[in-house]
Amino acid sequence: PDSFLSVRDLRVRFSTEDGIVKAVDGLSFDVERGKTLGIVGESGSGKSVTNLTVLGLHNPKTTTVEGEILLEGQDLVTTPEKEMEKLRGNKVAMIFQDPLTALSPYYTVGRQISEPYMKHTGASKKEARQRAIEMLAKVGIPQPQTRVDDYPHQFSGGMRQRAMIAMALVCDPDLLIADEPTTALDVTVQAQILDLLKDLQQEFGSAIIFITHDLGVISDMADDLLVMYSGRAVERGSVREVLREPRHPYTWGLLSSMPRLGGATSQPLMPIPGSPPSLLNPPSGCPFHPRCTFTDKVSGDRCSTERPPLGEGRAAACHLTAEQKQTIFIDKIQPR
Ligand code: SF4
Ligand code: MG
Repeated sequence: PDSFLSVRDLRVRFSTEDGIVKAVDGLSFDVERGKTLGIVGESGSGKSVTNLTVLGLHNPKTTTVEGEILLEGQDLVTTPEKEMEKLRGNKVAMIFQDPLTALSPYYTVGRQISEPYMKHTGASKKEARQRAIEMLAKVGIPQPQTRVDDYPHQFSGGMRQRAMIAMALVCDPDLLIADEPTTALDVTVQAQILDLLKDLQQEFGSAIIFITHDLGVISDMADDLLVMYSGRAVERGSVREVLREPRHPYTWGLLSSMPRLGGATSQPLMPIPGSPPSLLNPPSGCPFHPRCTFTDKVSGDRCSTERPPLGEGRAAACHLTAEQKQTIFIDKIQPR
């Protein structure tokens, strides 16, 4: 496949006062050119750390990164910071959950969109301002010629999100990383922003990594899906495959808490008991075993002693047999 980004056996650890946190523990995935990879998982699953690492935004003093992050064959793990600066905002860009982390309150929206453009393309101030107006129009800001001189606080939450998208896309990046980009917005605005992102992807042809804890959002945004748990990928496949016939007990839990699949009741069919594991001291064997309700279906104590591997392609990291995965899903989880 035409992999634009190829992550291989990524391991990210950082030291804290309490010890070494294994934030990402042997993660591999691919993003194809122009396609969207959804990464879903609870907070602390390693999804945000993974993407900050792709952007080289981790703290090199406290963080160790091993493995490969190949962007068109260039390994970003070994790329010096000076060169990463040229990639960030240019070839690879990011939109965050909270626009206020990306937009400074002290500068006009227009200046913040035009600055990366001048920096990366060498455009003049005048050209960059014109480009900023154009970008504001593209993301649906009314009267862009006047709003370009507004400060972020003069924009509504939804407009700030649009401005941040304009800033991220101003240099026509090949890869856009969107980390929970709509979580803070109300449902209507959320839907508008997602539509906007899809339209812009068509126009710009960027690949997108879309990070969320919400499987409902991912179903109409992504082509492929990676389910993360405890710093690892536990399931991978096309969105269609994973949502129609999920093969990992953790994915079953996530899916069954979606209102659409839970039917009329808001009670999840199969809630996930307990809380996400500590990354300071991750569970042995399958990281999901302390919360899994199917360990008795696996012979011996393999769930707590043996780490289930994630195969290539469409795969789930779980010791249940293929047949068990299918029957349990159909019996217990599938909506009737
Ligand atoms: Fe559950 Fe065992 Fe599968 Fe892990 S390997 S998800 S504990 S059944
Ligand atoms: Mg996060």
